[in-house]
Amino acid sequence: MKNNSLDSSDFYDINSLLKEEQILIRDSIRAWVKDNVSNIIEDAALDSKFPKHLIKGLAELGGFGGFLPIKYGGAEIDFMSYGLMMQELERGDSSLRVLSSVQSLVMSNIYKFGNEDQKLKYLNKLASGEMIGSFGMSEPNHGSDPFSMKTNFKEKNGSFIVNGSKMWIGHAPICDVAVVWAKGENNKLAGFIVERGMEGFSTAKIQKKWSFRASETGELIFHNMVVPKENLLHMTDNMGDLYDRLNIGRFGVAWGSLGIAIECYEVALNYANEREQFGKKINSYQLIQKKLVDMLTKITRSQVLVWRLSLLLDEDRATHEQISLAKRANVKMACEVARISRSILGGMGITGEYPIMRHINNLEALVTYQGTEEIHTLIIGKKITGISAIR
Ligand SMILES: Cc1cc2nc3c(=O)[nH]c(=O)nc-3n(C[C@H](O)[C@H](O)[C@H](O)COP(=O)(O)OP(=O)(O)OC[C@H]3O[C@@H](n4cnc5c(N)ncnc54)[C@H](O)[C@@H]3O)c2cc1C
Repeated sequence: MKNNSLDSSDFYDINSLLKEEQILIRDSIRAWVKDNVSNIIEDAALDSKFPKHLIKGLAELGGFGGFLPIKYGGAEIDFMSYGLMMQELERGDSSLRVLSSVQSLVMSNIYKFGNEDQKLKYLNKLASGEMIGSFGMSEPNHGSDPFSMKTNFKEKNGSFIVNGSKMWIGHAPICDVAVVWAKGENNKLAGFIVERGMEGFSTAKIQKKWSFRASETGELIFHNMVVPKENLLHMTDNMGDLYDRLNIGRFGVAWGSLGIAIECYEVALNYANEREQFGKKINSYQLIQKKLVDMLTKITRSQVLVWRLSLLLDEDRATHEQISLAKRANVKMACEVARISRSILGGMGITGEYPIMRHINNLEALVTYQGTEEIHTLIIGKKITGISAIR
């Protein structure tokens, strides 16, 4: 039987399992990345600056909150399509997937918890890229254990006074609006919609980082910040409310890291097909062929994994443990594939002529970001044994 897939990395013809609309979305993002991102991203990463001019183009492709209703700026796409989008964006660079997934995370929080006025005020502007959003949960001293957060709120004269800070926040230095979680009396958790310009609110950029270099990561700082009561998004004593929204981000990382692996594999394959040593193409050597086979095997397993997970998510049946497993497994897989790719490229693998080293560096953040490898291990471990080893 013939495999009609166009991709050298689609060994099991997953393409034929996708709907026409899903393929269209994937291919339009792929083409956009190729035309607009590939030739500028290396410099953006070296300069440690996000290329802001890309925001509008990605918004026009439905890159922000695409799974939300049309009324709120979405396109009502399914999660398979959203995942394919994340694959193609991260294949270009993690900063693009971060842009899309943070924006979508902020929108999905406002969509889930917000009242109609809040939805109408923010969602369309976030979808069009007119507003850039941040999501603030992690803190300098509380990353894996956000429930111990120190950012706090008190009610005063009908408003809220918020103090504390959030660390490692995607787009903090350039955000117009941020969904921020804080703790009140009796362990109550509140989500607020914070706007740039609010009294007592400032942001800072993390200047020296070797991963996610083209992404603007930073701090949200609240010093007696006054939040009007209409900007309260949600009040709960259930941390689960918060984790629920994070699943979409983790799902995006599972697909995104697959995108990195595919890119690293295809770059290595093309290089091996061209490069000669000892008078022969290196693709003819058994050790190189084994590396290519190992890479493709790992990619194929991960493709089947996220394809199935997306179906479960689209049927509203995916558990957070299944999402943890895919995030953990695919990031680990992509780290392995990227390193093999680097070795096939020899010295050229460390240069900016090829994207491999940039992706390897980005993968280091992906291991930690959206829940560390260890935390996801413990989430799955709890599911298997019924015992939580986290605390
Ligand atoms: C580039 C980047 C962007 C990010 N963007 C955002 C964002 O937009 N919004 C946001 O809210 N957060 C964001 N984060 C934060 C991210 O979610 C945290 O970094 C992550 O949750 C880990 O927290 P930590 O860095 O404080 O590490 P820690 O929690 O201090 O962990 C340190 C180490 O200890 C391990 N560890 C912790 N607890 C246990 C345990 N019980 N058992 C075994 N091992 C354990 C961890 O796995 C890790 O290896 C971002 C992070 C990065 C790096």
